[in-house]
Amino acid sequence: MRLILEGSGASRGMALGRARLEQPSRFLVDNTPLAQADVAAELVRIDNALALARAELKGLRDKLSGPLAREVAEFIDAHGLILADPEFVNGLHNLIKDGRFRASAALKMQRDSLVAVFEAMDDPYLRSRREDIEHVIGRVQGALSRESSVEERKLASRVGEILVSDTVAPAELVPLAEHGVLGFILTGGSTLSHSAILARSLRLPMVVGSHQALAHLRDGDLVLIDGDSGNVIAHPTAQDLASYRQWQRDVAQQDKRRARLRDAETRTLDGIEIHLHANAEMAADVARARSFGAAGIGLFRTEFLFLQRRDAPGEEEQFLAYRDLVLGMGGLPVTIRTLDLGADKADSAGLVLEDEPNPALGVRGVRLSLRNPQLMRTQLRAILRTTGYGPVRILVPMVSAVEEVITIRRMVDECATQLRKEGQQIAEHFELGAMIEVPAAAIALTSMIRQLDFVAIGTNDLVQYTLAVDRNNNELGELYDPLHPAVLRLIAHTIAVCRRNRRPVTLCGEIAGDVYFTAMLIGLGLTEFSMHPGLILEVREVVNALHAGELRKIAPRLLRATDRAGIDAVMHRMRARMSAIVENAVAAPPIDC
Ligand code: PEP
Ligand code: MG
Repeated sequence: MRLILEGSGASRGMALGRARLEQPSRFLVDNTPLAQADVAAELVRIDNALALARAELKGLRDKLSGPLAREVAEFIDAHGLILADPEFVNGLHNLIKDGRFRASAALKMQRDSLVAVFEAMDDPYLRSRREDIEHVIGRVQGALSRESSVEERKLASRVGEILVSDTVAPAELVPLAEHGVLGFILTGGSTLSHSAILARSLRLPMVVGSHQALAHLRDGDLVLIDGDSGNVIAHPTAQDLASYRQWQRDVAQQDKRRARLRDAETRTLDGIEIHLHANAEMAADVARARSFGAAGIGLFRTEFLFLQRRDAPGEEEQFLAYRDLVLGMGGLPVTIRTLDLGADKADSAGLVLEDEPNPALGVRGVRLSLRNPQLMRTQLRAILRTTGYGPVRILVPMVSAVEEVITIRRMVDECATQLRKEGQQIAEHFELGAMIEVPAAAIALTSMIRQLDFVAIGTNDLVQYTLAVDRNNNELGELYDPLHPAVLRLIAHTIAVCRRNRRPVTLCGEIAGDVYFTAMLIGLGLTEFSMHPGLILEVREVVNALHAGELRKIAPRLLRATDRAGIDAVMHRMRARMSAIVENAVAAPPIDC
């Protein structure tokens, strides 16, 4: 029966697929002992489920393509080996035959003992591979509990999978996308998490905070997810499917209309040029940035090179990745951010401190790099070596004190001297910038600005740290407010200090690509934005309908407003001119509750 589950939209768009539940921590286990007469049937059930899981893995492997195919194939093979391991399979059989456990209970017992073995390992990489066990057993468990109508199964077999889980780590997203996952329904998560950012980058719809999803969905259920409204429909009706098809047609039309803007300028009605750069997390973003007419890469998040691997990448590997990025942008400016590991971007290479009591306030970003000078030098050398291939800027995350910038500047200079001695062709001068994402850095910017060539405002973290609201905690969603008067003042102050000191300033948090905020940011004097490549045309369309002079006149009222109602009223005035465009934009049709 049709069922609607509510959540929050974290990555836009719709997807139709069959649910794949990943609920390692809440196995639905039937613990009632088996009667002797049922043992044979239960053995057949577990064997069928194992066979189905193996067939699914083979199907996924056959579908692999793209640059990560080899790596992902290794994952799949590792999972296949677990399923074929005689010790594992015999263990299940023995539990059913001798222990009279039902298949689901036997599976859970096998999982618990295997996970315990992995958790006892000293090597952090091997320890983290317990996830493989969870994935494999989750797949067999799913196969065991499959229950849907024949028609639905037929339709579901033709569409890909939608992952239903408590959370998903940023490092898991790319392999999952390569496995053919079409979208995500998470019971936890948040719209600002790095997983959500990556899902947007991969253009995979994601719904977070869908608390009831694991309890109400079953493996194989046909689900329609709406990453705009945050709603999920299980067992959609013919009417739901028709509105999904209509949405697909509307998106295609809209893409066609916006495609005309690819080579257009981004200029307000009164002639102010606005530069729209792209945020990039992976190589594929470069092609997207070019195809959407980005002015450059405004933020390359290098930490994604460090995730889901055993060792940190060496200088040569990093150099090749950054060089391809720079070459791919064909002479347009590229801003490479040094490592921002920590908080929700944990790693497998053992760089992040384990069990920090408060990781978001802990050894993250530049703090981690300064504790590992060799790691930092390797990365700086790799970045500096690309400066001979195109305009490259170096951006430092999580800066809270001017001393950090001074130390990094010194390291950059030392690395440059060394590289020149080695005969490497590198640029004469390097631009070094800081992310302004810690309130202290924004407040004390005047004392830091002389050390900086440019500034990037990271509102994702600036909001989190100013308001003391965890960006990864969806329960606090309402409190996470980029329009809070304190946040607005910090953004306005940062832009004003940069303009006064003639330093370029970009804003690269998620609000840069959200047309709700475009007029406000232009009103505050921002002319450089960096966003997901897929949002550039939408923002360009809006910018071209705005009058910067008018907005700048209204902006002081925004800063004088003392509460949200006052701010909303000014926002309303600022957005009036562009509202027709925004309202015409295709959002997923609201799912009718
Ligand atoms: C930010 O904090 O706004 C930002 C762009 O950095 P990240 O989202 O990677 O923390
Ligand atoms: Mg940040």
